[in-house]
Amino acid sequence: MPDTIFSKIIAGEIPCHRVYEDEFVLAFLDINPLAAGHTLVIPKESVATVGELSDESAAAVGRVLPRICRAVMKATRTNAYNILQNNGADAHQEVMHVHFHIIPKYADRPSGQDGLGIGWRPGKLDSDVGVEMAKRIAAEIG
Ligand code: 5GP
Repeated sequence: MPDTIFSKIIAGEIPCHRVYEDEFVLAFLDINPLAAGHTLVIPKESVATVGELSDESAAAVGRVLPRICRAVMKATRTNAYNILQNNGADAHQEVMHVHFHIIPKYADRPSGQDGLGIGWRPGKLDSDVGVEMAKRIAAEIG
């Protein structure tokens, strides 16, 4: 069980701007927002990545995530947002406790205050490679 800054926030040892809490989940404002209303949703279970979450925690996060998204949209008067979820340092995860970023996208604000910027450089899926890869992944799903 990693001990991170988020464990301390859950324990109330470090303050946060809380927007939601239940038995399994806490949501609060990101201290370095990409845009106003940038919110973090975290399970209280202390694991680093989504793949390590218990079914119970995963279900609890999944149950409230849409409600919190709707609330962030209404409160910020935006109608677009990104959910960002990083797993592992190589994938830009800094805090090793599962968290979902809800990041409002502001169409009318300058870069740096408008939300998430994405560098997306897609390839093209070869059909034979796709058949093989889908088979391999499917075989690993328990
Ligand atoms: P990551 O890169 O791990 O996906 O994002 C971690 C996020 O946690 C960052 O956006 C960062 O601003 C936020 N964060 C780190 N420490 C604190 C803290 O003490 N309080 C709050 N509210 N957010 C934090």
